[in-house]
Amino acid sequence: MSKAVVIHQTGGREVLTIEDREVGMPGPGQLRIRNTHIGLNYIDVYFREGLYGTDTPFVPGAEGAGYITDIGEGVKGFKVGDRVATVVNGAYCEERLVEADKAVILPEEVSNEAAAAIMLKGMTVQYLFKQSYAIQPGQSCLFHAAAGGVGLLACQWAKAINVKLIGTAGTGEKCQLALDHGAAHCVNYRDEDWVEQVRELSGGGVPVVYDSVGKSTVEGSLDCLKPLGYFITFGNASGPVRDFSAAMLASRGSLYMQRPTLFTYIASRAQLNRVAGDLFNVVRSGDVKPVIGRRLPLAEVAEAHRGLEARETIGSTILEV
Ligand code: NDP
Repeated sequence: MSKAVVIHQTGGREVLTIEDREVGMPGPGQLRIRNTHIGLNYIDVYFREGLYGTDTPFVPGAEGAGYITDIGEGVKGFKVGDRVATVVNGAYCEERLVEADKAVILPEEVSNEAAAAIMLKGMTVQYLFKQSYAIQPGQSCLFHAAAGGVGLLACQWAKAINVKLIGTAGTGEKCQLALDHGAAHCVNYRDEDWVEQVRELSGGGVPVVYDSVGKSTVEGSLDCLKPLGYFITFGNASGPVRDFSAAMLASRGSLYMQRPTLFTYIASRAQLNRVAGDLFNVVRSGDVKPVIGRRLPLAEVAEAHRGLEARETIGSTILEV
């Protein structure tokens, strides 16, 4: 028997229950993986609340790192004991079955804990900077929640590729942290004039905004863009963007908009290898380092969600198994 967090009905943090379950043997093409570390992500909150819709019961969580305990028929390229990371739903558990196609062998330099802190969030930064809007050295961008899990990785990666990242964060301390990790500027977006501040810092507007905050920032983000700029809305920590019309893009100068998700960018084995490989390269070079703000045992998952939702966290939170 092995423990897993199970949600029988979506809702508040009280729906996160810990149960025993039989994992079973891996089927053809599968691996059995024992997690040692699980990464907490804001998407876990959306699933728990039912925002992204899913059948119940389900095991929440989107990423884990651990080692292989058994291998199914036909699996090639993996052996028992290999350390692997997975960005696959159902991660809040001690042990699980995963399609081998979705597992990534960890290089020596990346510990299991580091992997749980960077895989989902770091691959997100990869596709945002290199694929969603391929930002070029010397360009500037606006990146919200710059002291968060994705945010602090983005600050470091931007500096490494000579991108002037203007961050936002909810406190002065968080802004300082973003600056310490490579942001060129950071604005407290609880200030009423944050849009004016960003426009001034960018000399009249940025070519791209990476917005994961959603409802509370959408209008301001659009106002920070230059004509023909790109609005990349990739999350909704403050609530989903509902009141949106295409005219809002026209009136600000023929803007472009994308609502991406990481899962599109790592859908095939080749894509996953490329995006993870890029991430491992910036970690190996020392340009991007994991920032772990909080560690909690898996049994305290509800407290971990509370801290994330209360905006108390910085960097990544890790659930230890
Ligand atoms: P974070 O650690 O960044 O936590 C979210 C942060 O959002 C908070 O710390 C807070 O920072 C800020 N925030 C602003 N308003 C609110 C609010 N009303 N309630 C809660 N938080 C708020 O989380 P992650 O690093 O896990 O994820 C960052 C974002 O990126 C999330 O929206 C997530 O869904 C999205 N994401 C999207 C992906 C995709 O492919 N589409 C993939 C990965 C992540 P502050 O106090 O500084 O305002």
